[in-house]
Amino acid sequence: MSIEIKNVEKSFGRFKALKNISLDIASGELVALLGPSGCGKTTLLRIIAGLEVPDTGSILFHGEDATHRHVRDRQVGFVFQHYALFRHMTVFENIAFGLRVRPRAKRPPESVIRKRVHDLLNLVQLDWLADRYPDQLSGGQRQRIALARALAVEPQVLLLDEPFGALDAKVRKDLRRWLRRLHDELHVTSVFVTHDQEEALEVADRVVVLNEGRIEQIGAPHEVYDHPATPFVYQFLGDVNLFHGRVHDGHVRIGDAEVELAGGQDHPESAVFYVRPHEIEILRDRSAGTIAAKINDIRPLGATVRIELERADGRGMVEVELTRDRFANKGFREGESVYLQPKRLRTFNHNSVSE
Ligand code: ATP
Repeated sequence: MSIEIKNVEKSFGRFKALKNISLDIASGELVALLGPSGCGKTTLLRIIAGLEVPDTGSILFHGEDATHRHVRDRQVGFVFQHYALFRHMTVFENIAFGLRVRPRAKRPPESVIRKRVHDLLNLVQLDWLADRYPDQLSGGQRQRIALARALAVEPQVLLLDEPFGALDAKVRKDLRRWLRRLHDELHVTSVFVTHDQEEALEVADRVVVLNEGRIEQIGAPHEVYDHPATPFVYQFLGDVNLFHGRVHDGHVRIGDAEVELAGGQDHPESAVFYVRPHEIEILRDRSAGTIAAKINDIRPLGATVRIELERADGRGMVEVELTRDRFANKGFREGESVYLQPKRLRTFNHNSVSE
């Protein structure tokens, strides 16, 4: 089922929660709505679900206007962060619920329901939990059962609102990979709300970055990460270092360092440059285009090492991320004086990115 969202606006009192949102979601696509708390992700999801009506604009399902269609006629399945399963029902009964409460004429025979539930339990790889009650499950298992329950009624659209938000980091990571594989198998058109950029980049076919009720950018994960359309997207999708610089003759002067710019770019005279922590080299020897700094703090983060440095010209801190191997080879120590070499400098000019 394809979904078209056209010029949707929504206010609560005088507060405009969504401003002129337009978005096309292809049939079978998994789209992530990504943005900080309060940017309007849940409101947009609720409008797609039919739990909220937009003030203006329209929603089309498979090309047909569904703006005012009742939620129960939209064939949507939901999974929420705290979507409590029915505590007094077993896992089996929870999954069967949506089918058993259908009017008699639309209710499948009990044998079909039993088969469907077992198929879904196999699909979410929890068939051995059929007779347990929700209290006897882990948080991750509960969300997988909630997903099986949402899928039982064969929805055309699956809406997921921070489904893994309440789980710990390791389980979250496992479940997002699992969800991605499941989606590749089922191809149900899905909209996934998250404020976690890593989660959005890993799970989605396309990411919609929202900020203050507006769409900042829509693109494949690598597009929004490598070619962010606005400073907001760049900063929201990962840590950044900001360098204020003055541009002349193909160089940018950052403090007392002259850093070369990639040729042919038209930069304003004075600009803010953005560099991600893994895009900076740390050198022991001064060379052309390096920025002097001192290592303040070294933090191992699993596969990588985060190094916090203070610029020698007193203009702030810089974060650098090295792989563990690279860090081990170099053997940097806290207190050491070094030189920073940004591998790429980006700036935003008329909403475009240049390197
Ligand atoms: P979070 O990640 O914190 O859930 P969100 O991006 O999902 O945030 P929404 O829940 O869509 O944000 O809310 C967007 C804005 O609209 C917020 O400022 C919120 O306070 C406001 N809002 C949402 N629902 C209502 C409502 N029923 N009445 C009044 N204001 C509302």
